[in-house]
Amino acid sequence: MKVFLFLCLSLQALFVWAEPEIKLFVGSSKSDVRLVGDLKVLGPEGQALFQGKSVNLEVGSGGILELDGKPTGFSELKISSPGVISWGERQFRHNIEARSDKNAVSLTHQLPLESYIEGVVASELPKSWGLEVLKAQAIAARTYAIWQKSHKELLDSSVMDQVYHGVQREHELAKRAVKETAGQILTYRAKPAHTFFHAACGGHTASSEEVFGGNEPYLKGVKCPYCHTSPAYRWKYEISRKDLDKKLGANVSKIKSIGETNSGRVKNFRVLSDAKPKEMKSAELRRILGYSNFRSTLLTKKNFGWGSVEFGGRGFGHGVGMCQWGALTLAKKGKTAKQILDYYYPGTEIRRFY
Ligand SMILES: [Zn+2]
Repeated sequence: MKVFLFLCLSLQALFVWAEPEIKLFVGSSKSDVRLVGDLKVLGPEGQALFQGKSVNLEVGSGGILELDGKPTGFSELKISSPGVISWGERQFRHNIEARSDKNAVSLTHQLPLESYIEGVVASELPKSWGLEVLKAQAIAARTYAIWQKSHKELLDSSVMDQVYHGVQREHELAKRAVKETAGQILTYRAKPAHTFFHAACGGHTASSEEVFGGNEPYLKGVKCPYCHTSPAYRWKYEISRKDLDKKLGANVSKIKSIGETNSGRVKNFRVLSDAKPKEMKSAELRRILGYSNFRSTLLTKKNFGWGSVEFGGRGFGHGVGMCQWGALTLAKKGKTAKQILDYYYPGTEIRRFY
C-alpha cells in the first residue's frame, strides 16, 4: 500500500491531468496600437467600454489607456472577440490583454498549450519539412514551454523563448503533428527536460554547459554531420567600421577570440579599442551585433579591413539541443520523430504529460 501511495504521489509530481494554459507576451508599442476584429473592450472588472470592428489603443497621461483618443480611466484592458483579433499582420484567437507599461501599450495573449504549440511549430518550420520533423519539433517545443512555464509566468513570443507569430502562420501539417503527439513531452529521470533547439549547429551541437552554464547529461553535445547541406550552414556578416564602433561604443581596433569550447565555439571576445579593453561572453557579442547577423559563435573568419570588418562562421543559433536542419536530413533518411529526439537529447524518454 505504501509503495502504491508513493508511486501515485511520484506520478502526480510529473503528470497533470488537464491541459495547461500559456500566457504569452505578444509585444509592445510606444505608438498607437490598432486592433481589428469583432471586438469588445472591457475594464479590469468587466466594465463594458467599447464594441466595434476596430479600435486604437494608446497610453495617455498618468499611464491611463485611451480608446480612440478617449481616456478609459484604466491602465489595464481586456479585449475579446468570438473570432480572431488582428494586430498588424499578426492574428490571435479570442483574447488580448493590454496594459500601459512605461508609456508603451503592452499586449499579452492567453491560450491553451496545444494551440500554442501548433503556432510555434508552424512559426518554426514549413510544412514541406514533413510530419516526422514537425512531430519532433512539437514534442521539443511542448517540453520547452512546460519547462519555461515552471520558471516564469509570461513566455516571450520571439526567439527569446519560442517564436509564435500567431494564427495566420498555422498550417495543417503542424496541426496534425501536434495532434499526433498531444500531451507528449521529453523527460529525463521522470522530469521535463530542458529541450533547447536551434536552426543549424554547423557540425557539432554545443553542450548546455558551454552556452547557458547548466550541466544536463542529455545536453552534452553530439556530432551532427547532417546540417551541412542547409543554407543556414555557413554565414558571412560584413559591418562597416563606423557601425561596429557605434554598436560597441568605442573606436574598435581589433576583436580577439579568447578560448574555445569543446564543440569549437568561441568562449569570449576581447574588444581592443581607444578605451579600456573589454572582455565579453561570445553570446553577448552576438546579441549586440544582432542574432540574425552574427549567426553563431562557431567562428571561421574575422577580417579587419580599412572600411569594414568581415565575420564568417558555421551554423545558425546557440547550437544547444536539436539542430532543426540536421533533424530534416535525419527524417529524409527515414528516421522517426522519436529517433530524431533520441539523437539530439540522448538518454531522454517520451512520456505523456497529461
Ligand atoms: Zn547540425
